[in-house]
Amino acid sequence: MLTKPEVIGTIEELRSRLADAQKRIECERAERGEAGGPPRIVLVPTMGALHAGHLTLVRRARSIGDIVVVSIFVNPLQFGVGEDLGSYPRTLEADVAALAEEGVPFVFAPTSQVIYPDGAASTRVTAGAVGSLFEGAARPGHFDGMLTVVAKLFNIVGPDVAVFGQKDAQQVFLVERMLADLNFRPAIEVVPIVREDGGLALSSRNLALEPVQRAAARALSAGLEAAASVAAQGAQVALQAAHARIDAQPLVKLDYLVVVDPQTFLPVGDEHHGPARMLVAALVGHTRLIDNVALDLP
Ligand code: AMP
Repeated sequence: MLTKPEVIGTIEELRSRLADAQKRIECERAERGEAGGPPRIVLVPTMGALHAGHLTLVRRARSIGDIVVVSIFVNPLQFGVGEDLGSYPRTLEADVAALAEEGVPFVFAPTSQVIYPDGAASTRVTAGAVGSLFEGAARPGHFDGMLTVVAKLFNIVGPDVAVFGQKDAQQVFLVERMLADLNFRPAIEVVPIVREDGGLALSSRNLALEPVQRAAARALSAGLEAAASVAAQGAQVALQAAHARIDAQPLVKLDYLVVVDPQTFLPVGDEHHGPARMLVAALVGHTRLIDNVALDLP
């Protein structure tokens, strides 16, 4: 039988529920005579409008931890002026139903007032130089806002592990760097990109695409796939292959297409050898889409 997750809106309630759940699991283990460390809390941070990509993160979380917390918070701090904060899809009821199917016990869905009681945090995490490249160039302040809320969620939930999707490659890079730079506790687990048939990476923003735009948006993943298939010939050839697919699609307005070094997240050229990642961002109508793929450069 499915148990509906508890939807929790305040920090105090969440902490008390988590402490209770940890105690309960410890008692049950003791009764069964089982050893093992304290029950592991795993956090999956999301902005809601959940799709199969998010649910893959949730399944990974369940497989590695004892208590799964999914946070649903559309973080105003990571949206710029004129971005889609107001129109970002909010589907809490459907999200909770989907999380019930996955056996998630706790959904943390705070209001902005709970997270930013003084309007906006005046103390912020800054993402550094990589935070102003690519997504950060198109969305100034986005990564400072993202890291600030991730840091707050880590402190609120106290997870042992936090699960992120490879879909947001720059986000993963910056979160990992923040963990190292600021000595945050959780380990990070990264889940590969989940795609729909035809290759388009699943995204809550896909809901805003008209059918013709959705079809056009497939040029992004097709371009990345073409690039990966010729990566043995070097970064430039891979870029050309991706451009050929993406530039041929008039509904797709390319923002950037780059190959970066996964260690530094800085662009590389043909002199680079070994693992690399190709990143793409484009506007389809008013919808901003991102995608990426691993490349193995010779
Ligand atoms: P969001 O709700 O867009 O902030 O995403 C929450 C988490 O889900 C982030 O770690 C994303 O990278 C991850 N995610 C979103 N879409 C996908 C996808 N198609 N495949 C894998 N992970 C995803």
